[in-house]
Order: sequence, then C-alpha cells, then structure tokens
Amino acid sequence: MKNSNCNTEVIIIGGGLAGLTSAIHLSKAGAEVTVIEKNSYPKHKVCGEYISNEVLPYFDWLGINIEELKPTHVSTLQFSSESGRTIETKLPLGGFGISRYTLDHALYLKALSQNCEIIEDQVNEVIFKDDYFEVKLASGKTLTAAVALGAFGKRSNLDLKMHRNFIAQKSPWLAVKSHYRGEFKNDVVGLHNFKGGYCGVSKVENDLLNICYLTNFESFKKFKNIEEFQQKVVSQNPHLKNILENSTSCFEKPLTISQINFDKKENVENHILMMGDTAGLIHPLCGNGMAMAIHSAKLASEQVAKFITKEITRSQMEKNYTQNWNKNFKNRLRFGRFLGAIFENSRLSEVLTDFITYFPFLLPVIIKNTHGKKIAVKC
Ligand SMILES: Cc1cc2nc3c(=O)[nH]c(=O)nc-3n(C[C@H](O)[C@H](O)[C@H](O)COP(=O)(O)OP(=O)(O)OC[C@H]3O[C@@H](n4cnc5c(N)ncnc54)[C@H](O)[C@@H]3O)c2cc1C
Repeated sequence: MKNSNCNTEVIIIGGGLAGLTSAIHLSKAGAEVTVIEKNSYPKHKVCGEYISNEVLPYFDWLGINIEELKPTHVSTLQFSSESGRTIETKLPLGGFGISRYTLDHALYLKALSQNCEIIEDQVNEVIFKDDYFEVKLASGKTLTAAVALGAFGKRSNLDLKMHRNFIAQKSPWLAVKSHYRGEFKNDVVGLHNFKGGYCGVSKVENDLLNICYLTNFESFKKFKNIEEFQQKVVSQNPHLKNILENSTSCFEKPLTISQINFDKKENVENHILMMGDTAGLIHPLCGNGMAMAIHSAKLASEQVAKFITKEITRSQMEKNYTQNWNKNFKNRLRFGRFLGAIFENSRLSEVLTDFITYFPFLLPVIIKNTHGKKIAVKC
C-alpha cells in the first residue's frame, strides 16, 4: 500500500536494535522500508551487551545467524551485594554476549541486503496529516510514508519535539561502559552492587570483557572523574575491585550517558508505533531491554504488515499493537520500575541486595518477573 503522495511505505526512525529488526522483518514481508539513523555504523553503545536467548527463534526466522558473530554463551548469573557477598543462579533460558558494535552492524548489513534504504540523517519532526506522515530531516529533506515507526531509543530530540510526558522529568541515573582485556568466565554474567549503583560484567566476542555500570548522579558528582569514582566507590565491592584492578581498558575513555529515564511512556503517539526503549525502558539490572526491543519490533511489524496489505485499518493496527505490547511488557516494566525505585534509595538497595544473598530463592523470582519466554514464531 503505497499512497501516491508517499516516497515509501514505512519510515523507521532510529536504526538501533528495534529499528533494524523491524526493517528486516518488514522487508522480508515485502514492504518498502526506509530507516533514518543519525549515527553511522559501526558504533559502540552504552549497554551491558548480554542478550536473553528468548530472541533466538525470532532471529532464526529473520535469517540472522548469531553464531556467525561468535558470541559468548552465558548460563549463570552471579550476584553480589555491596559487601561482596555472592550467590549464583542458573539463567532459565540463558543468553549470549555480543557487543552492540558488532550486533547493530550485522543487522544493518542484513537490512541493506534486503533492499532497505538506510539514510544517515537526524529526524527533527514528524507530522501526521491526511492519513500519511511527513518526516522532516536535519538535512532539510522531507520524506513521506504511510507508516512511521518510532525506534529512537531512550532519549531523543523527538521526545522533546513531541512533548512526551517523561522528558520533562529529571532522572538521577547515569551509565558508564568500557571494553576491557581481562580474566572472566565466558558463561557468567555478573551483577555486582556498589553504593549508589550496580555493575554488569560479562564477556562478549573476541574475548572482550564488558564492564558497564549504572549509578546515581548524586554519588558520582562528589568525585573528580570516572577513575576516582571507580577506585573509591565501585571498587568497594571486592569483586569489582578485583576485576577492575586486573583488567585493561580497550577504550581511550569510557562511554557515558546521563538522564536515563525509566518512567512510563506511551506505545502509540501521534499514530507512530513506538518500539524498544522509545516505548519503555526497563532497568538494566533486569538484563532484558535488548530482547524487549527486538520483541517489540516483531509485534509492531506484524501489525504494520497487515495494515499495508489492507487486512486491517490504521486504528486496528494501533489498537492491536497496544494490546500486544501491554500483554508482553507492561508487567515486566512495572516490576522493573518497582526494583528501580528500591535501587534509587541507597539504604534500601543495600538492605535488599544483602537480603537476596541470604535468601537466594528470590533471585529466580526476580528473573522470572523481568524476562519473557522464547519469542514464538509462526513458520
Ligand atoms: C547502562 C545500560 C546497560 C544495559 N544493559 C543491557 C543488557 O546487558 N542487556 C539488555 O538486554 N539490555 C540492556 N540495556 C538496555 C538496552 O541497551 C536497550 O533496551 C536497547 O538498546 C534498546 O534498543 P532500541 O533499538 O530501542 O534503542 P537504541 O539501540 O538506543 O537505538 C535508537 C537509535 O535511534 C537513533 N536516533 C535517536 N534519535 C534519532 C533521530 N531523531 N533521528 C534519527 N535517529 C535517531 C540513535 O542514534 C540510535 O541508534 C542496557 C541499558 C543501559 C542504559
């Protein structure tokens, strides 16, 4: 269904995990797809880079072979409290470790091979009128499409432009990530707590070690720089001290992001179907944001494919997507926000993390409430 006014059938705003997955899905379904991504590929991103295996059946269906990217295979979660008290649990589905540098680039190449158009530009405005979208780019171009999908991540210029509810709220969270050379078991993902934050540790491809932590700006700002913060705060946890002291950073300087907001968002706004973090970001301690981004791309693409073949109307497409999104993610995000609220209070988080190490059966309960099942695909 290409409206005679339109350049293309589907415009996807943002070419991260959700945007590229959806581009691959929709082009496989025969749609004409244009992705607009403001950055070039490949690029490092702040992320723990552990992905739940729930995405594997869907990746198979899309023709994405993760094994070709040589990921690590993760089966165990190691969890420690601030003092370093540790417990381990098996991850029911397990997962894999792959850098965003490699994964996003592989999805980009796959989307190109399926004739998706990928434009490097920034979307500055999206207007819906007369049943189609006008998408205005920073370069001055305007593109038009019957469908617009929002996959522009956790915080973007478009959130401001669209006056989205969460954007006015200040968030206390900032995150730091680097790749290192160092010893760490390939099959383990570590989640180690420290005062005012928590740190994920896991291996990705090429024997690289990902160390990525989320912390409260209030505790961070008391220190001169990242190095001092890591020595005086992060390293209070003996596991993190040992890992940081025995690893060498491969980055000139760590990547950082701030203003990470976990508030509730709308999953359809101004007729744009929002996917991945644009529809809602789960606390990284749940280790599940990437799987959710990929899964939400599937849910949106299924409805868009029906809309462009005129099986359903626009309002049905929006309603079905909202229903499916809520069914799959609403409770997970609510649980993530509950945990996040505890972690915002450093005393409460200390008590909770200690409590978990004394009552290890709680950890599988948390995993169950924040992870999904393997994504079902119809062959
Ligand atoms: C500290 C931290 C650690 C995490 N660790 C994990 C983990 O270990 N496992 C896990 O599963 N999840 C983790 N997550 C969550 C995960 O990173 C996200 O859920 C995931 O990246 C969401 O993908 P996305 O496609 O929605 O967004 P992104 O991958 O962020 O993609 C959004 C894209 O949109 C582009 N964009 C933005 N605005 C515009 C615009 N106006 N025009 C054009 N392009 C635009 C951006 O450049 C970007 O490429 C973590 C998150 C954080 C903050």
